[in-house]
Amino acid sequence: MLSGLRSQSAAGSADFSRLENASVEFRDVVKAFGDHRVLNGINLTINPGEVVAILGPSGSGKSTLIRLINQLESLSGGDILIDNKSTRQLQGRALRQLRSRVGFVFQQFNLYAHLNAVQNITLALEAVHGWKKAEASTRALELLHQVGLADKAQHMPSQLSGGQQQRVAIARALASSPQIILFDEPTSALDPEMIGEVLYVMKSLAHSGITMIVVTHEMQFAREIADRVVFIDGGEICEVAPPAEFFTRPRHPRARRFLQKVL
Ligand code: ADP
Ligand code: MG
Repeated sequence: MLSGLRSQSAAGSADFSRLENASVEFRDVVKAFGDHRVLNGINLTINPGEVVAILGPSGSGKSTLIRLINQLESLSGGDILIDNKSTRQLQGRALRQLRSRVGFVFQQFNLYAHLNAVQNITLALEAVHGWKKAEASTRALELLHQVGLADKAQHMPSQLSGGQQQRVAIARALASSPQIILFDEPTSALDPEMIGEVLYVMKSLAHSGITMIVVTHEMQFAREIADRVVFIDGGEICEVAPPAEFFTRPRHPRARRFLQKVL
């Protein structure tokens, strides 16, 4: 067992049980699916506690970019450092630790249809993190309260609106107290009248000190909440700027074209 642990650390598996520094650094990141290069040399540093909005046209590589961070996709080249530590070739325990430090919220919520709201949150706490059932339930109820759904604890996903389901998904992503949270178009699957309640929860989170990386088409949200906007097109970062600059004086021609279409 001990020698197993040693050889794992010799192979570069750092300890991700707690981040000293909830930063994310892309170094020359390349991602290809077969012959198709979808990210082409990404360099970007996101600082602890920063809120970054990732904007760009459909198919530009936004989802792939954030999915690489917690290894829902594997790198083709380069490295992603979290807490200044390489995340290349993490497996087993180190990868589980990393994913407990980095929450992910999907466009389609991805709740377990056969579990109620509380169970959706407690499942990983019990099965992955070894929490006792009672502790996990207490934590789940706290989180449901935080996202305004204390009264929906026993509801099944099919009994919840899209906005409510996404708030349960956010609560689930927060269960392990991650220090970084990634959102992949969290409001794109919602009816317009439900977008506000999800953005409201995200805004309160943005002020909590967690590092937040949000792929979004909600320009108003990006403008109000993001510290910086990252605009990507064709698998490359074209522009990184504070929103006040990006939305009033975009420098890159492709950013200007994009904004003309969406605003
Ligand atoms: P965005 O989120 O900006 O719309 P994506 O990151 O989803 O873009 O996709 C970028 C490109 O990578 C697209 O051309 C898409 O078709 C391709 N792609 C994404 N995921 C896969 C996959 N699993 N297999 C093959 N191609 C993929
Ligand atoms: Mg996408």
